[in-house]
Amino acid sequence: MIFQVFFALCRCFQELKTCRRGKSSTSREPDFGGTENFASSPATLTDCETLLKKNEETCKRYNFASGWSKVRVLGEGGYGKVFLLRKKKNKIARKVVLSQPTDCGFSSEEIIHIQMSHPNVLKLYCWEQKANVLCMNLEYCSRGDVASHLLNLDEKDAKSYFKQLLDGVAYIHLRGIVHRDLKPENLLLTKEKVLKISDFGLADFFIINGKEIRLTETVGTESYMPPEVLQPGRKRYLGPPVDLWACGVIFFKLMTKRKPWSRADLNDEEYRMWVENRKGLYKKDGWKELNKAFRTLLNLLLEPNPTQRIYGWRRACRH
Ligand code: AMP
Repeated sequence: MIFQVFFALCRCFQELKTCRRGKSSTSREPDFGGTENFASSPATLTDCETLLKKNEETCKRYNFASGWSKVRVLGEGGYGKVFLLRKKKNKIARKVVLSQPTDCGFSSEEIIHIQMSHPNVLKLYCWEQKANVLCMNLEYCSRGDVASHLLNLDEKDAKSYFKQLLDGVAYIHLRGIVHRDLKPENLLLTKEKVLKISDFGLADFFIINGKEIRLTETVGTESYMPPEVLQPGRKRYLGPPVDLWACGVIFFKLMTKRKPWSRADLNDEEYRMWVENRKGLYKKDGWKELNKAFRTLLNLLLEPNPTQRIYGWRRACRH
């Protein structure tokens, strides 16, 4: 029993080459043509024209430009607003943000997001850029984000969400993309409790032309960022371990409703104990509620050394 949950969670990593594609949450979902063909190959940076053409075709095919009425605001912030839109029985979410048009007609967020096609990744149907306003037509998730359900979450749902998160993350990594802002606010839930990873605003390519590259920007949400990104004067960092770390923090939060620390640096008492006195930390609230199997999982995901984190995780998942 002890590692049952863990092995189930690892399944996605064992299947990296044949990344499973589960059932879609809604039969009314428009399909952005061609995703089947590149669904398991790295996403691409170039081919501006083809992508723009496909995007335009999809917007036209589903007539996103007219006939939709605004139902309510789903979320808002400094970035802009997300609206629920309805046309007959169809519902979509439209994210409206101020964004300068680029030469190519899209930013890295759109080019990355539109190429994703997996049951645990929020679908971007198409986008429309008018002057400096960008509208992203997105799959609608009626339960909102995981953050707003945290306090009432039971263990069964928490495990299910975490497993779905790992499935989605494995898929994103397989496509050569790192998300860099995984957190409960960016995990949406459909009516059927299917988890969808959203918000690719900070995502980037870590595989370009078949080669793995290191990243440079300090981006993300502080309490979910790994030590190698927060470290002052650091060098470039590896992509996938950043998301694995965030998955560890999310797992802790799903199970305990607390965050393990405010910031993964040695000035933070909890984080220092994680590095220097793990047994002492296990006596504290939150940690003491976790069983041995869950702690083992956290030891892999919240490994301070990023190379060992990814290596240890992959090795554990091979067994
Ligand atoms: P975002 O700016 O994408 O992080 O969205 C802000 C908030 O709007 C989220 O935390 C959700 O509560 C809500 N929201 C965003 N996208 C959707 C969607 N596709 N379906 C339902 N709610 C959404």
